Amino acid sequence: MRLLLVEDEPQMADALTAALSRYDIIVDHAATLAIAEDAARDNVHDVIVLDRQLPDGDGLSLILHLRSIGSKTPVIVLTAQGTVADRVHGLDRGADDYLAKPFAVEELLARVRALLRRPPTMNALVVRIGALEFSLDSREVFVNGKPLELPRRELLVLEALVRRQGRTVLRSALEEAVYNFDDEIQSNALDSHVSRLRRKLVETDAGVTIHSMRGVGYLMRPAC
Ligand code: CA
Repeated sequence: MRLLLVEDEPQMADALTAALSRYDIIVDHAATLAIAEDAARDNVHDVIVLDRQLPDGDGLSLILHLRSIGSKTPVIVLTAQGTVADRVHGLDRGADDYLAKPFAVEELLARVRALLRRPPTMNALVVRIGALEFSLDSREVFVNGKPLELPRRELLVLEALVRRQGRTVLRSALEEAVYNFDDEIQSNALDSHVSRLRRKLVETDAGVTIHSMRGVGYLMRPAC
């Protein structure tokens, strides 16, 4: 078995590598997200053990990257941030398992074995258009790999457009996606959500355009 260990603390990395090697596991070590992305590209690992706090960012972004390139390699996230909210967040982002530090190597091994018994997971629900990535699981948006925070209604508009990319989404469908039954909808509110969203996508160079189909709805596609 070949395992990719993404961990920046040398002591922790050495101890884990030594312990895992005793069980005939080949360990490739990456100390940064950038090295891990390179190492994961060849898709030769059976499992990835991923620390969250890395010098060049949150380890969870590696998962989104992996899933966006079609990798289904299972990921166990290691973290000192072991609160329920952290675990839920990690699992929502596509982690297959979560292990809070400190832990016994035996427990890590047991979880690795359990994961390898599972059938490969479904294709991750990440939609890519231009430089935009939208996680349908967690509703997180990345542009050129950087998170894009959006107010709730703009996010819901974007989700509806992303799910039907290349097709016209009727105004009524967008309004249903954005508003509860109880909300009072102002006639131009949808258009202002769309124009704010459109401006942010242009500003961040997302490589997508939102076309207005006058009176009918909107359509999203990659910018030419
Ligand atoms: Ca760390």
